[in-house]
Amino acid sequence: MSAVIAFIGLGHMGGPMAANLVKAGHRVVGHDLVPEALKTAVAAGVEAAPSAGAAAAEADVVLTMLPAGRHVLALYQDEGLLAAARPGTLFVDCSTIDVADARTAHEAAVAAGHRAVDAPVSGGVMGAEAGTLTFMVGGDDAAFAQAEPLLAAMGKKAVHCGAAGAGQAAKICNNMILGVSMIAVSEAFVLGESLGLSHQALFDVASTASGQCWALSVNCPVPGPVPGSPANRDYRPGFAAPLMAKDLGLAANAVRAGGVDAELGLRAAALYAAFAEGDGAAEDFSGIVRAIRDRSGQQLADDKRDH
Ligand code: NAD
Repeated sequence: MSAVIAFIGLGHMGGPMAANLVKAGHRVVGHDLVPEALKTAVAAGVEAAPSAGAAAAEADVVLTMLPAGRHVLALYQDEGLLAAARPGTLFVDCSTIDVADARTAHEAAVAAGHRAVDAPVSGGVMGAEAGTLTFMVGGDDAAFAQAEPLLAAMGKKAVHCGAAGAGQAAKICNNMILGVSMIAVSEAFVLGESLGLSHQALFDVASTASGQCWALSVNCPVPGPVPGSPANRDYRPGFAAPLMAKDLGLAANAVRAGGVDAELGLRAAALYAAFAEGDGAAEDFSGIVRAIRDRSGQQLADDKRDH
């Protein structure tokens, strides 16, 4: 059944997601603070609204795809998005935000008489364009059931992870595994180099043995073994290092708030924060192998000088 959807935040991800909702036959009324983003969405069939509130006022569903939790909370509360919507509207936040912010946003939506789910995504801009995103969803059964057909128009899979905030929790836990495993794989390749082991030999063994993981077999951080991996195109993203740094930062917040003993997760957050601020600012997250190799060379030079 077609719905009227207010889509707020038509950036790299939101733009193509809104376009896929249009393609599925929904009426999408969109808003973005950046006129260029709005213009691109209009070219894909989205109707431009003068404000987020104006878009929400006539919608059955309000979808947000914004940079961070503070944007979502400001829009929902201070900028009056919840108040502008008709009672009983479904709020779907697809942004990647802090678990605590997601729960606050959910409570505010319910207190204003609405339904809400957090539904962050995995799959990146290519997945948003192709309509193959995976959604990780938090909220009650009724809200999930209502959101599911819309998510199906933008993705290939929607997993109901639990109550409010569970979608964000799943996202940061998954990306903590990914960040830590990319560092582990990269360190192993650099160690292999220092031992005279070829990239291909290590790949052939580890990808069919217990070292196997996505960071190795799909997004391999060294050029050669996996032709499609970003390492073969000078580390152009892919999944950009600053986005990995952001997600690991959210994971680190949750680790600290929960008193969890996650040494590697915290270390990965620190390493990616430094990489994303430096050489990795425009690189795929697998480019961290070069930072590890550079530091290893430096270490060796320092050791030789000291002896
Ligand atoms: P983006 O910066 O391209 O898009 C965000 C858009 O929100 C911008 O166009 C901005 O103008 C708009 N915006 C901000 N405040 C607004 C407001 N008050 N009203 C209207 N518009 C507003 O970011 P993106 O890459 O599309 O990412 C969006 C979210 O998706 C982030 O939370 C990100 O972490 C997550 N995400 C991104 C990727 C990716 O590969 N880019 C992958 C997975 C998840």
